[in-house]
Amino acid sequence: MLQRIVTRAEGLFGKRKREEEPTVLLDDVTKLPSKEQHKLDATRILHNRKGAKYAYVSCDVSGFKYINETYGYAYGNVVLRYIATVFASCLGKDELVSRTTGDHFCLLLHYQSEEGLKERIHDILNAAADYLMAEEGIQRRLLFNCGVYLIHKNEDINMIRARASAARKRNGKGFRDQIAFYNENDFVKELEVKELEADIRRAAEHGELKVFLQPKYEITTGHVIGAEALVRWEHPERGMLTPNKFVPTCEENGFICEIDFFVLEEVCRKMREWKEEGKKLVKVSTNFSRRHLEEVDFVDRLIRTVERYGLKPSDLEIELTESMAYEEMGTLLSVMRQIKEAGFGLSMDDFGSGYSSLSLLREMPVDVLKLDKGFLDGCHEGASANRDKRIVYHIISMAKDLNISVLAEGVETLQQMEFLKASHCDMIQGYYYAKPMPSKCFGDYLEAIA
Ligand code: C2E
Ligand code: MG
Ligand code: MG
Repeated sequence: MLQRIVTRAEGLFGKRKREEEPTVLLDDVTKLPSKEQHKLDATRILHNRKGAKYAYVSCDVSGFKYINETYGYAYGNVVLRYIATVFASCLGKDELVSRTTGDHFCLLLHYQSEEGLKERIHDILNAAADYLMAEEGIQRRLLFNCGVYLIHKNEDINMIRARASAARKRNGKGFRDQIAFYNENDFVKELEVKELEADIRRAAEHGELKVFLQPKYEITTGHVIGAEALVRWEHPERGMLTPNKFVPTCEENGFICEIDFFVLEEVCRKMREWKEEGKKLVKVSTNFSRRHLEEVDFVDRLIRTVERYGLKPSDLEIELTESMAYEEMGTLLSVMRQIKEAGFGLSMDDFGSGYSSLSLLREMPVDVLKLDKGFLDGCHEGASANRDKRIVYHIISMAKDLNISVLAEGVETLQQMEFLKASHCDMIQGYYYAKPMPSKCFGDYLEAIA
């Protein structure tokens, strides 16, 4: 069965293309045309479509996380490859499929009527789910979440993709495949995102982005041993905005890379000031998005920035998050090694919130593991509290076995603090001691509590 699908799929997007265009860019995991190649191909097909009606489908696998967590990442990649192969086998002439990131696929399809298109999408999704159940024994039927955009004349591929994706994001979680067509409300949402994009660039230029610092404490002594830098947007009309209001959009459009370096610069400027005033220096950590993994000179830029302020990399700590896709792991590990070699402290943020893998800890050259707040929340409520406590306890002892310090994030109560102390956690950060404060107040705070 697979061979038949593969042969057909090669006919559709592999061999034929390779003969005509020898430099087809491929996605590493699925061997489908890459995102960039897909955009070029879609633009060409739409340009030559001569009145044929086309729709764009943005699609992801509901609960793909479950597959990764139950069967492992490598198997998750096998599933993505099978989905890619089945999708490709369902395509006709001048139709396309590609995988953009993670479990997210895009299809360019012909259609005659909306009803017919919906049926066809269901058939394609069923073919993939049936195949994985029959041949691979996946016990839980795969369900998909799709957004569909009906393409008009002369529309730009980026806008087409954004609209299909906006429709997909509207879908809820259900027990059957969800297929939503783009509508006016999605348009409003898309406008909001566009406005936010323009607004944040303006905000950065007008000095509306601010850096707050939240102290980190050594749990046994209660001494401040560091701080985390957190960005805020002092919006002229909407007040002080926390990162959840704008970081996700900036992650999508890449502007987060500018924000992260802005925060680092602000931190360095503050630290130089403290140094010049003879104040005590504590190690400050800054958050860096996974988007930096795509930059070839990321670590060099970190070093250059710090040196420009007369500081050493060891004065700072870099926080990276662990919830990255499996295929990014190789790059993540290599960037981590470079960061460590340069002399920066390195911490793994939000451990336990995403696809945490304890075994990866062995390979990651991190100094600090930051336990996600979600773990602690589970420790004092509900029937699973005891189990969650045992998990936290064992993660801490395992990390320490590997010579990695543990910091618990989001500590809000004395009860949590005492439990962490008893579990030999090294550091805590949370409202129990102090909330994030404007960086200009931090020096005074340190002096006041000394
Ligand atoms: P994070 O790096 O895990 O930062 C910790 C978050 O937990 C901060 O939220 C902090 O204010 C909050 N927090 C600390 N203690 C407590 C507590 O006791 N209770 C509760 N409920 N919350 C607590 P914030 O500042 O809203 O930041 C959220 C996330 O946004 C950060 O999570 C980080 O992932 C991201 N972020 C913040 N600044 C930056 C930045 O400059 N660059 C990047 N790439 N991401 C950033
Ligand atoms: Mg952080
Ligand atoms: Mg965190």
